[in-house]
Formats: sequence, structure tokens, C-alpha cells
Amino acid sequence: MILHLNKNIPTDILQKTVVELDARFFCKDEYIVLITSSAVKAVPDALAPYTLQSWVFDNDIQLSSIKYRPERNIVETPHCSIGKPDTMVMIAGPCAVESYEQMDACCRYLRAAGVDTLRAGCFKPRTSPYTFQGLGAEGLDILVTMREKYGMTIVTEARDASNVDLVIDKADIVQIGTKSMTDYALLDACGSCSKPILLKRSYGATLREFLQCAEFIMSRGNERVILCERGIRTFENSTRFTLDLCGVAWLKHHSSLPILVDPSHAMGIAYGIPDLARAATAMGVDGLLIETHPDPATARSDARQQLDPDAFTNMAQSLKTIAAAIGKKLL
Ligand code: PEP
Ligand code: MN
Repeated sequence: MILHLNKNIPTDILQKTVVELDARFFCKDEYIVLITSSAVKAVPDALAPYTLQSWVFDNDIQLSSIKYRPERNIVETPHCSIGKPDTMVMIAGPCAVESYEQMDACCRYLRAAGVDTLRAGCFKPRTSPYTFQGLGAEGLDILVTMREKYGMTIVTEARDASNVDLVIDKADIVQIGTKSMTDYALLDACGSCSKPILLKRSYGATLREFLQCAEFIMSRGNERVILCERGIRTFENSTRFTLDLCGVAWLKHHSSLPILVDPSHAMGIAYGIPDLARAATAMGVDGLLIETHPDPATARSDARQQLDPDAFTNMAQSLKTIAAAIGKKLL
């Protein structure tokens, strides 16, 4: 159950309810938001005098539910609002920050293609310990330089609790990757900050488990969560993962949160990515996350799936027409 409580509620009454019901709460300008388990179906007596509004749910997907916010949750970022019905955002960049020169070359063709939101990893959650793990703090400094030089909004991944504070400090949007979706220290840290959080679906998670992780962030008070479908593991192994567009449709129907699609990690091979991006655009997603590298052959991570500058630019051009056909402008 979600309750909006008058701010004049005595602290002892609030604290007692929180302990008794294992509830969470956070303060907004006008009221306090208290969230209990969905098993609670009636406003507790002690809270009744202070309750402004209440919502009952069938399950614990509550703050992220469309039922709570039918008007949808629009997430403001430095360049655009993500989740508005008439726009979609392009978030692009290489898998990893490798050098100043690589990022500079990348920003030049991204800006020429009209892209304002740059994404690249500095703390990489690699499958093998014997591969490039990212430049860490040095990579973040390169991203900050790119923001200053090209006026880009920067998105980068917080891999774990050891780097999350640094990433929150430097990035405009903090990414939580597929392998960290259920890292609760990370979810708590992201929930306690005010930056937008780009939460990627674990490749082994159901849609409900995915939204449940969004709830961990939101119930700490940060409602600026953007979901990202990036492919799930199925029996099919000819492509890297399977892009779950059914899941995207389900999320659009059940959740108020903006939804991005990342065809790059789903496909894992450059040739399929523009087609998947076009399909996702046609279904009205709130944005795309695309990996592109100035020289894919030399990329230090995810080389096979990096679009080269021409492939990226041509894809971006074709997406504008498709977006326009369904009443959206590509940002
Ligand atoms: C990434 O975005 O570069 C990344 C590692 O993605 P994922 O967490 O989806 O594998
Ligand atoms: Mn990658």
C-alpha cells in the first residue's frame, strides 16, 4: 500500500508504523510517502488522521506501477525529459572509455548526428578477469572533459559499492548494469541520491524481479528511474542474448517508468543492431542505448557489437523518419 501522509504526522507515530509494518518512507515537498507491503489492504488506524491519499496493490510493484502514476513518470535529464509521449532519446557511445582521443573522435560524430547524451563505461563488469576492466576514475575524468568540451550529458555505470559514490558525483545519469541489478548496496546508494538512474534488466530476471529492483531505488526516495531492456538469456545462442520486446510492451502497460531498449548487448553483433533499433523505435520506446566506436576493430570491450561511425550515422538518420511516423521526435 502507498500512503501520502500529511507532514504534520508526529515522528513517533510514523516511526512505530515503519517498524511494525516493515514499511519505508521518504519526504517530498508537500507530503510524506509511506510504502508498506501489498499485503496491507487498509489504512492503519494510527495513520488515518494523517492520510491524504492511499493506493492498494495486488503485489509489491507499487511506486513503479502505472496504477500509482497513470500520467507516467517523466525523468528530467540535463538535455531532455525522458518518458514524454512525443520524444525519444538516443543515448550512445562506446562500450568503454579507452582514451581521450577515442572519446574525442566519438563525440565529434555523435554531435554531428545530433546526439546529446553520451554513454561509456569506466568501471566495467567483465565476464573474464583477464580482459580490459575499464579506466576507472581516469575514465570518469575523460567523460567530464567531454561534457565540458561538447556539452554532452554523460551516462556511466556504477559497478559496485566501491565506485558508486564517485560515479554519482561525476555522472549526469548513473547506470546500473545487468550483472548488478540485484546489488542491494548499489540500489540503496542510487536510491539515496538525486541523480537519474538507468537500471538495466538482469539477463536472468523476470519482468517482475526487474521492477522489484526499481522499487528498491524508488522506495529510498529517488523516483528518477529509467528502465532498460538489454536482452535476456534464452536457449538461443546464435545471437548474444534475446531482445525481449514482449517484455517492453508489458513494462509499458504495467509501469509508469520510462523504458529504453539496448539492442547492442542483446544482438552482440553489429549487423543486426540498426534493424532492432528501428523495431524498438516503431513500438514507441522512450529511448535507445547504442554502442558505437570510432574504430570498432580496436575496441577493448564488446568489439563485435560496436557500430562504426557510418553505420551509426545512417541508423540515426533512418530512426528519425520512423519516430516521426509515430509522433515522436528523436533527441
Ligand atoms: C554496458 O552497457 O556496457 C554493459 C556492460 O551492459 P550490460 O550491463 O547490459 O551487459
Ligand atoms: Mn558493452
